[in-house]
Amino acid sequence: MGDTPFEPVIGLEIHAQLLTDTKIFCGCATRFGAAPNAHVCPVCLGLPGALPVLNRRAVELGMRAALALSCTVQARSIFARKNYFYPDLPKGYQISQYEHPLATDGEVRYAEDDGERVVRIIRVHLEEDAGKSLHAAGGDADRHTHLDFNRSGVPLIEIVTHPDLRSPAAAAVFFTRLRGILTTIGVNDGNMEEGSLRCDANVSIRPAGESALGVKVEVKNLNSFRFLQRALEYEIHRQTEAVRAGRRVEQETRLWDTAAHRTVSMRSKEDAHDYRYFPEPDLPPVEVSEAWVAEVAAALPELPEARKQRLVRQYGLSAGEAGQLADTGELTAWFEAVSAAAGNAKAAANWVMGEVTRRLNADGEEIGAVGVSPDALGRLIRMVDGGVVSGSAAKTVFERMYGTGRDPAEIVEAEGLAQIGDEGRLREVVTRVVAANDDAVSRFRGGNEGSLGFLVGQVMRETRGRANPRLVNELLRRALADDA
Ligand code: ADP
Ligand code: ZN
Ligand code: MG
Repeated sequence: MGDTPFEPVIGLEIHAQLLTDTKIFCGCATRFGAAPNAHVCPVCLGLPGALPVLNRRAVELGMRAALALSCTVQARSIFARKNYFYPDLPKGYQISQYEHPLATDGEVRYAEDDGERVVRIIRVHLEEDAGKSLHAAGGDADRHTHLDFNRSGVPLIEIVTHPDLRSPAAAAVFFTRLRGILTTIGVNDGNMEEGSLRCDANVSIRPAGESALGVKVEVKNLNSFRFLQRALEYEIHRQTEAVRAGRRVEQETRLWDTAAHRTVSMRSKEDAHDYRYFPEPDLPPVEVSEAWVAEVAAALPELPEARKQRLVRQYGLSAGEAGQLADTGELTAWFEAVSAAAGNAKAAANWVMGEVTRRLNADGEEIGAVGVSPDALGRLIRMVDGGVVSGSAAKTVFERMYGTGRDPAEIVEAEGLAQIGDEGRLREVVTRVVAANDDAVSRFRGGNEGSLGFLVGQVMRETRGRANPRLVNELLRRALADDA
């Protein structure tokens, strides 16, 4: 028993806030960061007699997500009351879809280095968020809790996967892909720090080769990829140790303690809630026509995985390159504009993944704030391809263009950065460099090819990166052979 290998089995329940302007059952704003309780009304405060009215836009965004996850949208779905007491839930129940969710039976497919992954989706349903409790720290006398109901009634979808994931890393990758899909289709802002995307992870272990599922533990409210992965790693370890020690894994709900790096028990199955679900009497069933589904489906943009595969096909990029460039729709569009302007997809890809990304990272910016137009970068790439500037001088030109709106040709002209392709001029520099670097020269002649790179570098330095590197190589080899 001691060394039975165990296989982890993982299923996720993801809550994503829908990008509506107003809440799901009232007209209050959903904007994040307002003063506490600035966006509340009798409906989202749960005052008696206040009637909910369903936000059509929330249904539409829910459908969008469902369709992007290849789910079947149900013609009729039903809201129910999920009854429980919690201070941030003033009605005493949450309105959520239960027996009849908005959509069912989907899947997410994506390529990994070692093959395709498929994670099946059980359901996507609509629900409202609860308020937020803020526990003030302090001694017994001033220990108290604040309640902020701005979030109460904010529309969410819950996405439930089948237990198809087999490792913490795979769960994190899946969650990344899901986030990419939801942000691409404009359903969710992907902001995990603000809690607009969070996940509950269900995990069990079983002896490898076994097909029955083990007893699962649910770890609630993980709001980063890293926490998801860490919490699962910890939990798999904890469960494995328990089984090895002859104990049973208890079915329970746990929390990830970010400070202590471990999961802690929140409630066990014995005190599991009986939510007493029943259909919400104040809301009619959600009716969705086939025409509406077709309309929402037709308006879906290209999804990240499809985009990536198209980049491979259309531009001959590697899967890795395409993966980077397909990170967001904006980045892909920008790359494609550069490629069109440059007439050279490979070079465009290298520039976007190289200099452009480096500069954006250094500035802490995204592609939306890039300091150069795709057209101007395309012109610069054409100048490199046409031998007007060397690759290394082009980097200097790029730095000068960035954030200034200057034209690459003008910069090359003004700063004398044009490539030196004139043999006579370069031969002079080569002769000087050879004369000044006896050591490198004799090492090269002794068979050390690497010394040539050093000498090329010296010529480049003398010409401020403007020399045509192919020509420099050629002239150097000739000079070194001649004088031998
Ligand atoms: P519950 O009734 O406790 O909510 P569900 O059957 O609705 O359980 O499943 C909730 C989530 O837990 C789903 O994502 C599902 O894939 C996952 N899950 C169910 N059983 C297991 C298991 N034995 N191990 C790991 N994950 C599981
Ligand atoms: Zn309200
Ligand atoms: Mg469930």
